[in-house]
Amino acid sequence: MDEFQFIQSVTPKFYRQPNVMKGIGDDAAIIRNQHEDTILTVDTMVDMIHFSLKTTKPYHIGYRALAANISDIAAMGGKPTSFLVSIVIPDDWQDQQLNEIYQGMKDLAKNFQMDLIGGDTVSGKQLTLTITVIGSVPQGRARYRSQAKQGDIVFVTGTLGDSACGLHILLHGNENEHDNYEYFIKRHQMPMPRVDFIQACQGITRMALNDISDGIANEANEIALASNQLIELDYNKIPCQSDLYHFSEADRSKWILSGGEDFELIGTIPANEWDILRKVAKETNTKISQIGVVKNNPEKNGSVWIYQHDRYAKLNKSGYTHLSR
Ligand code: ADP
Ligand code: MG
Repeated sequence: MDEFQFIQSVTPKFYRQPNVMKGIGDDAAIIRNQHEDTILTVDTMVDMIHFSLKTTKPYHIGYRALAANISDIAAMGGKPTSFLVSIVIPDDWQDQQLNEIYQGMKDLAKNFQMDLIGGDTVSGKQLTLTITVIGSVPQGRARYRSQAKQGDIVFVTGTLGDSACGLHILLHGNENEHDNYEYFIKRHQMPMPRVDFIQACQGITRMALNDISDGIANEANEIALASNQLIELDYNKIPCQSDLYHFSEADRSKWILSGGEDFELIGTIPANEWDILRKVAKETNTKISQIGVVKNNPEKNGSVWIYQHDRYAKLNKSGYTHLSR
């Protein structure tokens, strides 16, 4: 396939979103929005750094790269609508593998009625995939990390540590021979961003939000810093699958606090809206858990502290704790 044929092979036959005025086929794409704020995000994945063909099939490379971007849109309170793909293709990559990368993206995009509206194709040494996702949110309703306030409840969706556990199983095999290993592998290969849940949250007056791509220790710190508040977490309340108890306490704790790539959401909301959030969670079939509180403490604002194993310790971005004096 030459470049022209390749672009033709990835061009969709129709567009799902009414705001696409021009998709693939001209010098640039055009979308038209009237009453919404536009959300834009871009991420780049490089072969051997962000993934390895040993643990990731081309299909999952495409799927996960798009999922990570969609998750960023959800974490702004928005819904994804379209995306552009820039790809650097090494000589030794087969047409079939490239098609699989696009198939992974297309299958996930279909879930959210998203359109592929453009991109760029070049050859180079290392497979590199850069995805730009465009989303929208009602005007003025984006959710920022800086919106946490004293008295807020800190919550998280889903369970944490699944993706890191899945990667561990892919790399080392199913050492503990537990039955649920396919669940963890799937959570690693095909994470589902929390778009539906966040769309249903529009009635919540205020919400600080961040998606869990690096690990909750990192993302909680980002909210604490942006909001200049103290976040206190209770380790025992952070939800994980019971099968994680087949693994060592050290692995489990590492995966839960800094495993990342679960693409769940961590957020804070006013305490008096917790019941509304629980209703939304039920309606959208989303597990949510209260895992902490937001406090204002001039000496500790901008940091995260955690109750873990009867200790109260500072939790830094990478997931290490420092004992309090
Ligand atoms: P130009 O020279 O104007 O950049 P290109 O030949 O790069 O045009 O692209 C032609 C069309 O194909 C454009 O609409 C572009 O967005 C789209 N396109 C190019 N590469 C890709 C790709 N890898 N994935 C999706 N769309 C692509
Ligand atoms: Mg181009």
